[in-house]
Amino acid sequence: MGKGTVPSWLPHTICSMSAARKWVYLFKEGSASMRDLLGGKGAGAAEMTRAGMPVPPGFTITTEACREYYAHGGKLPEGLWKQVTDALVTLEKQARKRFRDPRNPLLVSVRSGAKFSMPGMMDTVLNLGLNDVTTRALAARAGDERFALDARRRFIQMFGKTVKGIDGQRFEAALTAAKKRAGVKTDPELSPVRLRSLVKRYLAIYRDATGHEFPTDPAEQLRDAIEAVFRSWNTPRAITYRRMERIPDDLGTAVNVQMMVFGNMGPTSGTGVAFTRNPITGRKELYGDYLANAQGEDVVAGVRDTEPIKALKRHLPKVYAQFERYGRKLEKHYRDVQDLEFTVERGKLYMLQTRAAKRTGEAAVNIAVDMVGEHLITEREAVARIEPRQLEQLLFPRIAPGAKAQPIARGVPASPGAATGEAVFDADTAAEWGKSGKSVILVRVETNPNDVHGMVEAKGILTQTGGTASHAALVARGMGRPCIVGASKVAVDEDQRSFSVDGTTVKQGEEITIDGTTGDVFVGRVPTIEARSLSKHRAASAILGWADETRRLQVWANADYPRDARKALENGAQGVGLCRTEHMFMEEDRLPIVQAMIMATTTREREKQLARLLPIQRGDFRGILSVMAGLPVVIRLIDPPLHEFLPNREDLVRDTATLRATGKSPDRLKRLEKILARVEELHEANPMLGLRGVRLSVLFPEITRMQVRAIMEAACDLRKRNVDARPEIMIPLVGTLAELHAVHAELKPVAQLVQKEKGVRVPYKFGTMIEIPRAALTAGEIAKEAEFFSFGTNDLTQTTFGFSRDDAERHFIVNYLEHKILPRNPFETIDEDGVGRLMALAVKEGRKTRRRLEVGICGEHGGDPDSIRLCHKLGLNYVSCSPFRVPVARLAAAQAAIGDSASTK
Ligand code: PEP
Ligand code: MG
Repeated sequence: MGKGTVPSWLPHTICSMSAARKWVYLFKEGSASMRDLLGGKGAGAAEMTRAGMPVPPGFTITTEACREYYAHGGKLPEGLWKQVTDALVTLEKQARKRFRDPRNPLLVSVRSGAKFSMPGMMDTVLNLGLNDVTTRALAARAGDERFALDARRRFIQMFGKTVKGIDGQRFEAALTAAKKRAGVKTDPELSPVRLRSLVKRYLAIYRDATGHEFPTDPAEQLRDAIEAVFRSWNTPRAITYRRMERIPDDLGTAVNVQMMVFGNMGPTSGTGVAFTRNPITGRKELYGDYLANAQGEDVVAGVRDTEPIKALKRHLPKVYAQFERYGRKLEKHYRDVQDLEFTVERGKLYMLQTRAAKRTGEAAVNIAVDMVGEHLITEREAVARIEPRQLEQLLFPRIAPGAKAQPIARGVPASPGAATGEAVFDADTAAEWGKSGKSVILVRVETNPNDVHGMVEAKGILTQTGGTASHAALVARGMGRPCIVGASKVAVDEDQRSFSVDGTTVKQGEEITIDGTTGDVFVGRVPTIEARSLSKHRAASAILGWADETRRLQVWANADYPRDARKALENGAQGVGLCRTEHMFMEEDRLPIVQAMIMATTTREREKQLARLLPIQRGDFRGILSVMAGLPVVIRLIDPPLHEFLPNREDLVRDTATLRATGKSPDRLKRLEKILARVEELHEANPMLGLRGVRLSVLFPEITRMQVRAIMEAACDLRKRNVDARPEIMIPLVGTLAELHAVHAELKPVAQLVQKEKGVRVPYKFGTMIEIPRAALTAGEIAKEAEFFSFGTNDLTQTTFGFSRDDAERHFIVNYLEHKILPRNPFETIDEDGVGRLMALAVKEGRKTRRRLEVGICGEHGGDPDSIRLCHKLGLNYVSCSPFRVPVARLAAAQAAIGDSASTK
């Protein structure tokens, strides 16, 4: 084997030691702690076997064998087959059945089972071991020929499809034709005679597709099936699932070979799936389905309706009692809710699988808190156990679990929650209809800053393009609106005010429902359930209370308005880490003044307009500072390029051309031409790197002087009324100490003057954002002037990578992720190796200059659990995120602290 064919992730030692390795473990040799090696299913079967539960005997081929299989270009590792045949001998003894036995044949299932559950993503072969002779034997033992023939035809179909890659449709078509010929609707109605000819037909399909006969030797069947399960680790759907769930590609799957038991051997047989607690509500009750006289497949195929698990109590009370006992035992043993699969064969219970149950957010918090009450787990374990995404589910309305609606498209879930409303295709209509009390969903190809007024009034946002850090996603998350982006199947026609998906067209005014938690788009109204306030959620409050006792990082919120600040407080924020003042400039009543200020040609004229803005801004700041009394509020001075406050250039060109052509409204034409001229003047080739941030303060100091005056006047007024206002003034986009110095020199006198005028002292801070690599690299210098740092990780990511976020997300991030050029979207989770290093340097250098320098993060990453972990590691004082993400950030900060102390133990 050439070295070049060995994947880089494979440790060399494994390759060279292959001959000596143990590839196969009997169930009785394994244990729960061997999940890495035996996969979840194998470890579960082993643990149940050890605990003396009735598990059909079997063995597991390790995940290591799978890795070795790939390392050797798709060959079974040396020694593996010998170990399998040895294990088979033991299995035959345990089962008291034998492969090929004409009276009592052993049949096995061959199932995949990775370390992490990947439901339905990999392959399984059931009823392996059947041929003409063993089928007859099975029929005789079961006293049911139909059952045996049905098992045989299922086996051929599964084997053909999974092992040989035969198109499953060919078998399905033959089955449908057989039913049609027989004049029956369902599979069980096919008579043995019909089934016998169907088996023949299946064998012919197999021969035709593969060019050889179906293998009659069970050993050959088994060998082929094992390889097929290994191969199924790398099917496209498995790869996609792993990417979604962030499961590493290099784990490999184990293969479980286990004696078949049959739940379809009459009324005292059956099969079921049950959870030891209700996975939807968390209630402590056995919850699940039972299907008498059936195999697991029938449950999945939905041929017959299942009964609630309680039905087992009626049918077979002793079996039910035994199962209940095992459930309790397993839950206690694993100290977590278990998802159990079982089969009853002629009154005998077999436990097939146990694994940690997937659960809703509601169930997750309720169960964790109950288990603390039952002394099953500690408070810290309860905190560590809740996935941030589960907590998030509780915060937003969601699709009712029983809703049967089918989505017409799926996009990228960008902001959680479900919403129903009439589709509208432009922001003005969204704003107008929204204000009139209608529920609307704003549907756009993509959104831009001019759409914000419509987004505010919309119940949800759907865009055809964009990723999780696109404009729509960021704004929607900030506002807590459900949002789906990048729904590429949704073809939006903004001119026609409609969208279509595969021939279904939705026009303006027609209702749609979106689920921003899953990315699903539905036509019409789908029932949703409202979110409850977390403070009223007993279990969630308990979890968050424990999280607060555990975390070191503070959690602040980004809030531009008093209403956001109130939401932030309600969710437990300990400060405002970013108040973006430009959003205040965009509001209807001040935009004309802001525009007049920008249109001004002289400083005097500009100052005149700014004087009109001053009382309005003062009111804004008073509002937010008083809501946050006693807590810090970081107010960022103007950041975006000025053209963003003026009408769109293309619109102006179009409107002036129309007016010129018609000769109508000469006054309006003159006004628009003037604005267009200013827009042209302000036009930049690359506004992201142009005249914005601190550069505006340097060139137009009067703007930020007004802002500082407004902040300080508001704070003084409040302090006079004994309201503890604590403003922190923040300058964006600083790259050099000199910039900050120049701006500080302009602003400090204003702050001092206001305090003097008002006769009040305000404890305020003056600081900067770190969002340019140069600022991070020279943080030691910058800290001489700045009393605090706040990482603007959105811009810092853009400038570190040299990516423009919108362009990157639109054109190449997806491709980069697919080709693993990027491991994660850096606009979603901080790039630890690049941006993270700059942050680490800035924290270190900054604190060298100013020991108690307050350092936080206010970029969108502040609400991302993985980025929060990094912020904890870097020793930041706080993370600041949208008010809606505060609870999740509290939990993530606690989990970072728990992980930290676990790794240092
Ligand atoms: C940032 O860059 O991360 C930041 C908070 O600033 P903005 O997103 O407003 O550019
Ligand atoms: Mg920024």
